[in-house]
Amino acid sequence: MCGIIGYTGSANAIPKMMKGLSVLEYRGYDSVGVAAQRKNGTEIVKCKGRIGALEEKLRDEPIEDSRCAIGHTRWATHGGPSDENAHPHRAGKVVLVHNGIIENYKELRSELLGKGAVFLSETDTEVAAALINDCYAAEREPVAAIRKAAARMRGAFAFAILFDGREGEVYVIRRGSPLILARGRDGFYLASDMTALLPFTREYCALKEDEIACLLPDGVSICPADGTRFPPEWKTTTMTPESAQKGGFAHFMLKEIHEQPAAVVKSVSPRVNSKGLPDFSADGINADFWRSVRHIQVVACGSAMHAGLLGQRLIEDYAKVPTTVHIASEYRYHPPVMSEGTLVVVISQSGETADSLAALRYAKEQGIPTLAIVNAVETTIAREADRRVYTYAGPEIAVATTKGYCTQASVLWMIALAMAHAAGRLTDEKAREAVNCLLRDVPAAMEQMLSREDRYRKAARGLINHEHVFYIGRGIDYALSMEAALKLKEISYIHCEAYAAGELKHGTISLVEAGTPVLAISTERDLFDKTESNIREVRSRGAQVTLICRSDIAVPSETADELISLPVSSNAATVFSALLAVQCIAYEAASLLGCDIDRPRNLAKSVTVE
Ligand code: GLU
Repeated sequence: MCGIIGYTGSANAIPKMMKGLSVLEYRGYDSVGVAAQRKNGTEIVKCKGRIGALEEKLRDEPIEDSRCAIGHTRWATHGGPSDENAHPHRAGKVVLVHNGIIENYKELRSELLGKGAVFLSETDTEVAAALINDCYAAEREPVAAIRKAAARMRGAFAFAILFDGREGEVYVIRRGSPLILARGRDGFYLASDMTALLPFTREYCALKEDEIACLLPDGVSICPADGTRFPPEWKTTTMTPESAQKGGFAHFMLKEIHEQPAAVVKSVSPRVNSKGLPDFSADGINADFWRSVRHIQVVACGSAMHAGLLGQRLIEDYAKVPTTVHIASEYRYHPPVMSEGTLVVVISQSGETADSLAALRYAKEQGIPTLAIVNAVETTIAREADRRVYTYAGPEIAVATTKGYCTQASVLWMIALAMAHAAGRLTDEKAREAVNCLLRDVPAAMEQMLSREDRYRKAARGLINHEHVFYIGRGIDYALSMEAALKLKEISYIHCEAYAAGELKHGTISLVEAGTPVLAISTERDLFDKTESNIREVRSRGAQVTLICRSDIAVPSETADELISLPVSSNAATVFSALLAVQCIAYEAASLLGCDIDRPRNLAKSVTVE
């Protein structure tokens, strides 16, 4: 995953690297490093740990007066977190940083060893540096050398490269991993994503697959494979520097939880026409297209996959279109049967998730129409899919997604409505009513739920001294339970499993003993009685039950130890309110345990490796 950044211009490069890297830390925080060009050569300072460790190192060995530098924050794939494996890596005249994986690094390594190369780290990245250096010795020109080396590498990469003796020049290339170029008042930048550059500029250009770019202090040229060179077409992002800051909240996650009511409106309203009906024509999708879909395969990872499970229930309920949900990393190895009328829907917040991208490419190779639900605009998945629907959630910085999932769920809800309406299964009146619920009731109910911290904290207190926790629910609540369990696991490190409420008794109930926390979700009135029976089953075995339940159900006092009631203006409002409750419970549990909420261990956002 890793974050890379670079700058060349008239200003001091090091403060820019440090600022950008602190924003990019969400992409990985195993080690951090910078390489800066100075009069007497390129200096590298790097270390295991986070940006604070590098700051300390730079206090002891300051790099002064550099106008051209590259930087890296690492999520280790090849070789553990250590000073040696930290980027930048040097090989001969080449110094570089890398995001991605070089899959054939072993064969390249032995070939280069045969030519006398020496390796100091265990990384695939150092092999890439040696390969580029080898090609540079033959070609004597950076673009030709990079192109030649790239032709030999398999896998995914975004590189920022400095060459000795090429003052003020930074070269970049990408394949599979993201890379943005940007123009500021005092020079030119590159980064893995735009949020890292918002403190400096809003003018950007996304580099395309296999394009090489050369950044100089006074201009940038893009060098595609055909040997031509042209300047980038700069665009202005709508993101603001504030959107990548905490804005007074203790954590990005909390800020993003609070942004959800507004985010739902942002994701839904572009898909509502002047008659108040679901309509994706602004995304280039008309009713005929929805009518042509016979089955849907949703492909995604982690929370996006859970959003898909929610979408599956909605699409099947409203539109009666059979929908299956697939883990992206498994999709290619056991692809489900595709036929006339299959639509593959890929969901990815970052638009760069490597597993999802590979699944998307696989579906395209089979000639199956694809649609991407993506947050980050102009990213690889958004670009490569036949159709794209942006969630417009704004930058999501916390590693654990909240508003990303929430807006994916909103968009899937709208797709379910649009498909049902196009097929004549939903009258204008019913469709309008459902759209209104998403636009009005959902944000209002979520706002209401935001003010219940004391309830969430109380529920969280009941979890933190336990090793195992269960979430249970039926129907859509089971889909929600999976996301709830993931949220708790990823940020509080408490082991939590989600079970279909009726399934627990078929084996797993043997794990329930006196005091085991069970959180039950019940947003569907018709299913309450059944869920309640399952709650009683676990309570009779000593479980401590917290019930998250719609407020129009009279819950008998002996059903649960704790009750969190949900506003019930509409079904959608209830589901989204339950989502907010489970996110906040996870947040409070992690906060009581003193966990690093925005940067949970072993994780990184935007998983650009397979
Ligand atoms: N493969 C490189 C390393 O382990 C980069 C990892 C990444 O981009 O996540 O250092």
